[in-house]
Amino acid sequence: MTLSAYESTNQFIHRAMTALKLDDRYTTLLVTPSREIRVELAIELDNGTIGNFIGYRVQHDESRGPFKGGLRYHPEVEIDEVRSLASLMTWKTAVADVPFGGAKGGIQVDPSTLSRTELERLTRRFVDQLGTTIGPNEDIPAPDMNTNAQVMAWIFDQYSKRHGFSPAVVTGKPLSLHGSLGREAATGRGCYFAIREALKSDGRTVDQAKFAIQGFGNVGSWFAKFVAEAGGKVVAVSDAYGGIQNSAGLDIPGLLAHHRATGKVIGFAGSQPISNEELLTSECDVLVPAALGHVIHEKNAGLVRAKYVLEAANGPVTFEADEILNQRNVVCLPDIWVNGGGVTVSYFEWVQNTQNFKWTEEQVNAQLEKHVVDGYRAIRDMQADLKCSVRTAAFAVGVSRVKAATDARGLG
Ligand code: NAD
Repeated sequence: MTLSAYESTNQFIHRAMTALKLDDRYTTLLVTPSREIRVELAIELDNGTIGNFIGYRVQHDESRGPFKGGLRYHPEVEIDEVRSLASLMTWKTAVADVPFGGAKGGIQVDPSTLSRTELERLTRRFVDQLGTTIGPNEDIPAPDMNTNAQVMAWIFDQYSKRHGFSPAVVTGKPLSLHGSLGREAATGRGCYFAIREALKSDGRTVDQAKFAIQGFGNVGSWFAKFVAEAGGKVVAVSDAYGGIQNSAGLDIPGLLAHHRATGKVIGFAGSQPISNEELLTSECDVLVPAALGHVIHEKNAGLVRAKYVLEAANGPVTFEADEILNQRNVVCLPDIWVNGGGVTVSYFEWVQNTQNFKWTEEQVNAQLEKHVVDGYRAIRDMQADLKCSVRTAAFAVGVSRVKAATDARGLG
């Protein structure tokens, strides 16, 4: 039986709880979401008709700080996956050791079918419907798939109309509107630090490794740039339109220019076409899913040829696939550590907003590196204690920190 996204995430949590020998009361306290919000978003479309969309916000845990997590605009947004992603944020903020809890949200919509003004109206309506459930000390959204700095600017503006100047209500804002230097590249940069550290602990280096990357959006494209700058070979890349490969290594600056010009990776000079499914099982050292969830599942996990899976995307490996990869000694570097760079720099943005003080890009990047490296140290120590996979150790670090905060607060 295939597990749903939420069930799959819960299996990872239960595995860590068992390794930590936690008693059952923590299953009730730490697993289920604190609050789930579903709103109807009726807006007038440009042609005068009414469009009706459904939006969700799941607030999973706030024992370590305000809820925090991205907003996704996608036709496949549904409550089970939002629940799973909200839960992952709880463990991610704990592993990154930033003072937030976990949340996630989204609107079930294909944004490519809406005009810019329709998208703006939809976003503003969502903010109105969420009311006081979001706020600088309540719940702080951020960009995710198909949302960007412009969408965050509309959220800031709409919220501020009712509550006064509130830049800290949302992160990932444009630089011109209280965003942080380094935020756009943060997740890709954090993923780069993560694989550099993991390879280092196995006596290897980025410049000796071959990478295959699924997804060439914000995360995948910045990650490819940092890997190429460090001398790593990117041998395959794909996006929603298809993939390309070159076993001698793709010219990443050239590919970034091609992607900027055409919006796709296919058709890049000096490459051969490859399907998304072929990319996942292609010859490489590090497979980097950086697009959708659940792309590595029980049917293709046995075919993965990489030695490492670097989870740049959220939830790209199902629970069943994780078991298969573990048995095959493929090292899965989990999302809750690997892609925590985005929420870490979101935290720096929130700190700058609440203090009305601007950091330099060097400060942001140096602090980001420290959080990724420190997170890995905590995971390695936990792995040595529990004799478990990197993923179980990462969940155990997150669960231990959230449990400590929950215990200290009490239930009163
Ligand atoms: P994005 O919208 O900028 O890019 C998504 C990429 O995936 C695009 O290249 C798109 O073409 C590709 N894609 C879409 N459908 C695909 C398919 N069926 N097959 C192959 N490729 C497909 O999104 P992003 O911000 O880069 O996010 C990517 C992943 O990283 C998501 O899982 C997201 O939750 C996760 N993530 C993002 C951030 C962040 O700061 N942006 C932080 C943490 C995690």
